[in-house]
Amino acid sequence: MRNLIALFACSCVALSASAANDPAAAAAAKLAASVSRPASAMVPAATKKAEPAEKKAEPKAEPAASSSASSASEEDAEVELSAKIAQRLAALRERQQARATAAARAKKLADAKRKQEEQAAAAAAAVAAAPKHGTVWSYEGETGPANWSKINVDWAKCSTGNRQSPIDLRDGIKVNLEQISFDYHPSSFSEVNNGHTIQVTVGGGNFITVGNTVYELQEFHFHRPSEEKINGKGTEMVIHLVHKSAEGKIAIIAVLLERGQPHRLMQTVWDNLPLEKFETVSPSIVIDPTDALPERREYFTYMGSLTEPPCTEGVLWMVFKQPMQASPAQMALFSRLYPLNARPVQSTAGRMIKESN
Ligand SMILES: [Zn+2]
Repeated sequence: MRNLIALFACSCVALSASAANDPAAAAAAKLAASVSRPASAMVPAATKKAEPAEKKAEPKAEPAASSSASSASEEDAEVELSAKIAQRLAALRERQQARATAAARAKKLADAKRKQEEQAAAAAAAVAAAPKHGTVWSYEGETGPANWSKINVDWAKCSTGNRQSPIDLRDGIKVNLEQISFDYHPSSFSEVNNGHTIQVTVGGGNFITVGNTVYELQEFHFHRPSEEKINGKGTEMVIHLVHKSAEGKIAIIAVLLERGQPHRLMQTVWDNLPLEKFETVSPSIVIDPTDALPERREYFTYMGSLTEPPCTEGVLWMVFKQPMQASPAQMALFSRLYPLNARPVQSTAGRMIKESN
């Protein structure tokens, strides 16, 4: 009996040690303690009683008989208790097993989740590290000028360049700048709303000559407001006339536009606007690019870049000092299509700006 109780107590201690927080184990340990305490208290008493009995009443048979009767009832109690203990132990083991299974399942789930997170992080890192070749850009928000260089690796100059356009034209060196020689003629044209501006591609044979280099007019397009500023002040719109030399050098002429009288060339362009974006129309009439030039031809000049991705540098800029005019209605029409399509001014970075006297 004592052995049995001790065994049960041990099991309970072991079980409760392995799961200190389990109320069932705690209850079993308590039970074990309650059962074993009186028993162990009984032990010295029984021993004390038995000892004198053995010494004083050794020859008497009566106490022996009463001892055998009490031993039988003790056996019954032992059987009953052992059954109880076995039952409780089984319940405890079952509990422990369930707990172990749940813990294993939780660990498996946590492992799977961690693995998934690691894979996602690795994929994100790979995407971040991969060279980007995006083509979508705009003038505002995530795809706006501040992020152009992040959209496409080939557009790095948009942020790293130090010869970027547009700029605020101030503190120019006043010199006798050579006259730009124009050789423009009425020409066929096509136009498109390319998603960034209205662009007019002009038929061949329109040239300018600057510094012994001949450039041919490729196209002209519009910005609102003007990208360039003169002493911090811009205008409502600007026309850029883009030219290219036989060697591929680019020269752009900027003509600022203020509110006033209608602009003849602009009206022809607006009259022939394609109905859909990205649809190119080629009207059967001609335009004269000379109509895009102001009367007076003094200008600012500096080395800059394209004002849109890929922000290529090495562009010769010439900005006429005299603005032209366009009517409020003509400007309103463009603003419905493009309320804002101007890159902000860029750092001059110590560049020389020359201007006509
Ligand atoms: Zn432009």
